[in-house]
Amino acid sequence: MNKKNSVKIKDGMINFSCRMHLCQSSCCGPFAGITSNLTSIDERPFEEIVLTDEDYNKIYSSGHAELIEEAVSEHMGKKYYKMALEKDGTCKALCNGLCTINDIKPTLCKAFPFYFDMFSGLCAIDCEGFSDDYWTEIENCQYALDAAKKMYEFWLKFYTKAESDN
Ligand code: SF4
Ligand code: SF4
Repeated sequence: MNKKNSVKIKDGMINFSCRMHLCQSSCCGPFAGITSNLTSIDERPFEEIVLTDEDYNKIYSSGHAELIEEAVSEHMGKKYYKMALEKDGTCKALCNGLCTINDIKPTLCKAFPFYFDMFSGLCAIDCEGFSDDYWTEIENCQYALDAAKKMYEFWLKFYTKAESDN
């Protein structure tokens, strides 16, 4: 197995396959997101699993309100929602290594480990899913790329002031 678990792309193929419950460092556990030298304007911890409006509606209407926490952006003064975490940072929806809301899991979870960066475009966070032992066509990751786009759109909207604020 590739020790570094780093992303590689070659001839339309990507060395990624989510290890799911076999993953030793599941992105559902104590999760630190992308921490390297980045600072959130809102001083938001990178452990947060922020919910889009659609995520919130799906989770709330499916009777899992206890999995949702409210937060406020210091910078924008806007309310937003996130997944509730256990004290050690594990997502409260994780049970015996499995996501208990898998069919309605948040957009951020669908996107992970992919995200859009201002400088580099489509990027990936190194994780156990990257290995030279399994390659797949990039199109097979389309669901994750679409979710990454949605999260980018979420943040663009989040940091846009309402007209009445101007
Ligand atoms: S919602 Fe599910 S997939 Fe997302 S972090 Fe929690 S347990 Fe993992
Ligand atoms: S996306 Fe990566 S870190 Fe998350 S469960 Fe899959 S292999 Fe593990």
